[in-house]
Amino acid sequence: MNIHEYQAKEILNTYGIPIPRGRVALTSDQVERAAKMMGGRCVVKAQIYAGGRGKAGGVRLIHHPEEAQEYGKELFGRSLVTKQTGPHGLKVRRILVEEAVEIAREFYLSITLDRESSRYVLIASAEGGMDIEDVAGKSPEKILTLTIDPFSGLRPFQARKIALALGLAGTICEDCVELILNLYRVCLDKDCALIEINPLVVTKAGWLMAMDAKISFDDNAIYRHREYPDMMDYSQLDPLEINAAKYDLAYIKLSGSIGCLVNGAGLAMATLDVLKECGGEPANFLDVGGGATREKVAEAFRIILQDCDVKGIFVNIFGGIMRCDVIAQGIIEAAEAVGCTLPIVVRMDGSNVEEGKTLLRESGLNVQIGNNLGDGASRIVRMLSGEVQ
Ligand code: ADP
Ligand code: MG
Repeated sequence: MNIHEYQAKEILNTYGIPIPRGRVALTSDQVERAAKMMGGRCVVKAQIYAGGRGKAGGVRLIHHPEEAQEYGKELFGRSLVTKQTGPHGLKVRRILVEEAVEIAREFYLSITLDRESSRYVLIASAEGGMDIEDVAGKSPEKILTLTIDPFSGLRPFQARKIALALGLAGTICEDCVELILNLYRVCLDKDCALIEINPLVVTKAGWLMAMDAKISFDDNAIYRHREYPDMMDYSQLDPLEINAAKYDLAYIKLSGSIGCLVNGAGLAMATLDVLKECGGEPANFLDVGGGATREKVAEAFRIILQDCDVKGIFVNIFGGIMRCDVIAQGIIEAAEAVGCTLPIVVRMDGSNVEEGKTLLRESGLNVQIGNNLGDGASRIVRMLSGEVQ
């Protein structure tokens, strides 16, 4: 689960990490008033669930409150497309107005979960800022990493080693040690999957400050934090993904044209792989879960059909706990309810598979039965390319 920069900064601040003075605005008038409060000169920042805003025109240094208002109007009216958003971009509904800080140096600092070692890893670089991806690509030696032992935690000497390697000395080095230790505390207390400060800056006046902040909470830990659901900004999420979450379906929109309905995450991944191998482009990842009910299958089907990019559907179900005939009924009901005429290929196996197939054949839908995963995948690809009717 993601939160906005301003929310992440509020959390960091409660752990003693310095942040610039700022105000969140919901209208361009509020942007103007906030800019006045900052004395006119300020930085106006679009709040979206993605980075790369600076390069995409979502962060601007402003000199007058009127200029802030104009820029606010421009931002609120459009979707911001950055390197991290995809081609449609994300709508700007909140804007952070901050004091403009005179920056002397920019660093990169983050803590994230490393799946290989199953541990938190701290990543730092003296070359932080908007070009960090280039630094990682071209000169990886400039990126420092430290795997944190969950038993002993992050030790002050380790944090000091990082601060020294960033080229800091004296009081500011000690401030940085403190900041790194506090960042680790945030990670543990808030169950973060990622905390990133890019850039962490040294100001011209000689202070350390978090100039940007990104936090992602571990979805599996949301139940431990009652305040998290209220922090979510639903305008930043795909409406179909919100709907899927309500029914406990794991749904992720992709860019292709073949809607996929699968039970089990592993089977879903394999289905996408095989579809791709056959030359198809999946429109989504959708796992209805191992013990999917007829209602869940029907809801999943409805979600797929609401996606205008979908031109055909591939259902790949292993009927274990749930019988194939019951699943077939779910598919037929959902398809009939919305008057679906799209080509459908169903590959089924498991309990009552023959009864399920018979129901589908007799349903009158534009449906074909795949004999196995490979056959099903190539069938839907061929149906969409017009090779098979
Ligand atoms: P993004 O990472 O999405 O591009 P940032 O918040 O990192 O957005 O902002 C981009 C750049 O703008 C930063 O690297 C920093 O140089 C500058 N910047 C951001 N906030 C401020 C601020 N309050 N004062 C001065 N410069 C800022
Ligand atoms: Mg940034």
